[in-house]
Amino acid sequence: DTIGGNLDRTAARFPDHDALVDRPSGRRWRYRELAADIDAVALGLLELGVRKGDRVGIWAPNCAEWVFVQYATAKLGAILVNINPAYRVHELEYVLNQSGVSVLVAAPSFKTSDYAAMIEEVRPRCAGLRDVLLLGRPEWAELVERGRATDRSALDEAQASLSADDPINIQYTSGTTGFPKGATLSHHNILNNGFFVGELCGYTEADRICIPVPFYHCFGMVMGNLAATSHGACVVIPAPSFDPKATLATVDEERCTSLYGVPTMFIAELNHPSFDTYDTSSLRTGIMAGSPCPIEVMKQVIERMGMREVSICYGMTETSPVSTQTQADDTIELRVSTVGRVGPHLEVKIVDPETGLTVPRGTPGELCTRGYSVMLGYWEQPDRTAEAIDSARWMHTGDLAVMDDEGYINITGRIKDMVIRGGENIYPREIEEFLYTHPDILDAQVIGVPDARYGEELMAWVRLRPDAEPLTSDSLREFCLGKLAHYKIPRYVHVVDDFPMTVTGKIRKVEMRRQAIDILG
Ligand code: ATP
Ligand code: MG
Repeated sequence: DTIGGNLDRTAARFPDHDALVDRPSGRRWRYRELAADIDAVALGLLELGVRKGDRVGIWAPNCAEWVFVQYATAKLGAILVNINPAYRVHELEYVLNQSGVSVLVAAPSFKTSDYAAMIEEVRPRCAGLRDVLLLGRPEWAELVERGRATDRSALDEAQASLSADDPINIQYTSGTTGFPKGATLSHHNILNNGFFVGELCGYTEADRICIPVPFYHCFGMVMGNLAATSHGACVVIPAPSFDPKATLATVDEERCTSLYGVPTMFIAELNHPSFDTYDTSSLRTGIMAGSPCPIEVMKQVIERMGMREVSICYGMTETSPVSTQTQADDTIELRVSTVGRVGPHLEVKIVDPETGLTVPRGTPGELCTRGYSVMLGYWEQPDRTAEAIDSARWMHTGDLAVMDDEGYINITGRIKDMVIRGGENIYPREIEEFLYTHPDILDAQVIGVPDARYGEELMAWVRLRPDAEPLTSDSLREFCLGKLAHYKIPRYVHVVDDFPMTVTGKIRKVEMRRQAIDILG
């Protein structure tokens, strides 16, 4: 099936059900209205000359128009290029040229960023960029009006020429480990993944999903929007970008049944001073994903937010994204301590990164995924594609994992983040989990720093509770003694207000290591 076809079927089935709520602007759509607005945008883009295979960029924080453009481009078979709202001129120019964007839809500005000025600045250096449409400006309203006035047969024709395996989306990876790569995805890849995520969450037309994670990332646009529209559920946008208070207020006032977030978002919500003034009892389920989910946080999400069926998902942009997931009927223990088992119609295996051979259960190795979810490739980077996807179509994730006898998987870190101290392999994740049990520690991240004697030493970066006692490397050592093996006790402690993060809420450990080297001189 194609994304457009799937949406039209949902709209025909549930025409009067809520489809989309954009809280910042106070606008709401039922499925019939959403489908009509998407068609108007698709026809407007078609009138502008957008054809199958053309790249259309979207550079905006979460808003209803993001959703329109997502589905409108899919209906035309144009390739949507998601542009990270946090990008600056340099990165913007890189992705526009790397993917060959010809039409760019953008918010004029966001927070302190003047997008319009940045676009003007890069434009002379982006030869392929033909049209820029700024949301909220007359040119956007005119495009939509023109689309409404156009006969829809042209759109039906465009849709009839689509194949589910066509590329329709380039999503740049988070850039946690370096320059982002343009994962190229088909209808088949992401529609199926969104559908199965919706199945996992048990979505029906009665569900209302609060999405504070960015649409530009697969978590928002696939696990959020596509999971919702393939089940007739409603997408609720609490704010243009993450805001813990707006998220809690939205869950309360919109009676949301599902809430998404990366762990740092749930931490911010649970620790918000007015947490107790909001009623989150409408929540049944939700997803925590994107980075390791601390057990303590997961427990609080279940107990204090009432998300009884909450699931942890593991995946990556290159695999549409979800590869493994916990199920509502898994025990709480499994749901807080693993990323679940392989998703429907997918395969996973764990291999020795050196030899490529599958390792025995219980042994750590590199996680590999195969199946419908694996991307077509990295846009115009065949060499990098060949490094990631082998000749038997296995995607090599770069993540370290262990699988138990029942198939439950634990992500122990990234191959690149593993610390080797005096010949011992150390998984920072294990130490981070332990540090969360310290009463004064709100959030902890552990990295390896160069050391003349041991090769690498451990450094813990911690965020403390507001009323915490000062924390030194000695007092932390005291806390760890007898509970952690001596070589796993962090040698250095660095107290911070915030960690360096990507806009998707991921910790940038590469940047932390760079700063740590400066700090240690
Ligand atoms: P880049 O590839 O550009 O360095 P990135 O890998 O962070 O960035 P994404 O595709 O957004 O970009 O993230 C996928 C990665 O996120 C996975 O490879 C894994 O390391 C991590 N991840 C995702 N979900 C989980 C999870 N539930 N637990 C632990 N890690 C996770
Ligand atoms: Mg990656």
